[in-house]
Amino acid sequence: YRTEIGVIGLAVMGRSLALNMADHGFKVGGYNRSREVTENLIKEYPHENFFPFYDMRELVESQERPRKFLIMVKAGRPVDMVIEQLVPFLDEGDMILDGGNSFFEDTRRREKSLREKGIYYFGTGVSGGERGARFGPSIMPGGDREAYEHIAPVLEAIAAKAQGEPCCAYMGPDGAGHYVKMVHNGIEYADMQLIAEAYLLLKYAGGFTNEELADTFSAWNEGKLKSYLIGITADIFREKDDFENGELIDYILDSAGQKGTGRWTSLESLKQGVNVSMITAACNARIMSNQIQQRKMASELIKGPERSGIPDKKAFGEAVREGLYTAKIAAYAQGFSLLSHASGEYGWDLDYGRIAAIFRAGCIIQAEFLDDITRAFRKDKELTNLMTDSFFRNGINNGHESLRRILSTGILNGIPVPAMSQAAAYIDAFRGVPVGASLIQAQRDCFGAHTYERTDREGIFHHDWGQGHV
Ligand code: NDP
Repeated sequence: YRTEIGVIGLAVMGRSLALNMADHGFKVGGYNRSREVTENLIKEYPHENFFPFYDMRELVESQERPRKFLIMVKAGRPVDMVIEQLVPFLDEGDMILDGGNSFFEDTRRREKSLREKGIYYFGTGVSGGERGARFGPSIMPGGDREAYEHIAPVLEAIAAKAQGEPCCAYMGPDGAGHYVKMVHNGIEYADMQLIAEAYLLLKYAGGFTNEELADTFSAWNEGKLKSYLIGITADIFREKDDFENGELIDYILDSAGQKGTGRWTSLESLKQGVNVSMITAACNARIMSNQIQQRKMASELIKGPERSGIPDKKAFGEAVREGLYTAKIAAYAQGFSLLSHASGEYGWDLDYGRIAAIFRAGCIIQAEFLDDITRAFRKDKELTNLMTDSFFRNGINNGHESLRRILSTGILNGIPVPAMSQAAAYIDAFRGVPVGASLIQAQRDCFGAHTYERTDREGIFHHDWGQGHV
């Protein structure tokens, strides 16, 4: 046999993963629906361990058993189409990995139907974009525990490494891997939104220039905020424009795209009854950003406050750093709470320490911070909310005043800070201050006789509210 694994779909991600495997000494067969893509690949990136195929059957027949295929095509219907074409050539015990951004419910369905045919199916989250895929992504495989041992050597070899550990680990059965990837992307949305809000505060309330922003973010990248996203943000502020004087950032349209994984996380959280308000806020911020015409029109109709500026730039920068860090704790607490709830709901037995560990390198949210999260979950496997861990509890206790201060500066200056606002609301509700639910229960009992419980005695009560009834 010539090959040890087959990659189906050789666009940016499939090509990069195939070459990554080939670099690590695996003999890789590659197939793409459109022939030219494969032809271009071998022309541009010839590799002694990469073998092109133009026929699915030949790809299958070239491989030693049990066979392994990584599908890397557009998520949705194309994945089902590839499976339909591939499966007739397979034998029991063969394995299919779907490395795309598939919806976890689709993965559960596919895994179940292929399991009935004796084929192992792994929904495999891959994060890190093109560069990650080529030189070391973070990989989140879910599927059969024992069969995982057959694919582990390839996946763990090509994954990024953090402190010597591969950023790839078995997540759990059926859709667990794609679920973790979905929540990873949700956290990424919140993280990016928080950084964008910090930028707005520094720029419009603090009066920071692009150069000062670049220096500030570079300095932040030396401390506890050190992360891939903070690093690229510092570089972005330094990037000169190709057409005009000044920096590119000032010429980019204020309207953000999205492919849907953040929205999936938000919808799923409502289904699970878990609050991921910061991820939802990040989705909504992108949605609002897309209303270009309406925003332009309303800017002339609706007045904002006069901007007052801040007296001490340095102190303000420091408060934004602390506030951002505090809000970031809340965002990760929300994401991991969703994982914890889903784990129980779907019977996955997720290991949060292991999940945090594979986020430490390779992926977009890689950060020093994830070392601390890994430590927290490895120390206490029963931890259900990160904010109760002693390290993160201290972070919140030390930083919440800064968060409140910069939020009020933002709001008084008419700067939208939706994710940071949700962080403060989440922390306050979580720490047990009254949230107004007693009044809501009173209203519900008043108009609908929904009953209420009391603080001072056991039981279920209903009050005759008299004329309160409709
Ligand atoms: P695309 O999502 O752009 O998909 C293009 C590939 O899908 C091509 O190989 C294309 O073949 C193939 N394809 C589309 N429809 C079919 C079909 N019906 N039958 C067979 N093949 C089909 O490619 P990417 O490499 O960007 O992404 C692949 C997957 O990885 C996606 O699920 C994506 O969401 C995910 N992903 C992407 C990341 C990124 O940074 N781009 C990061 C992490 C995950 P053809 O050439 O014939 O059109």
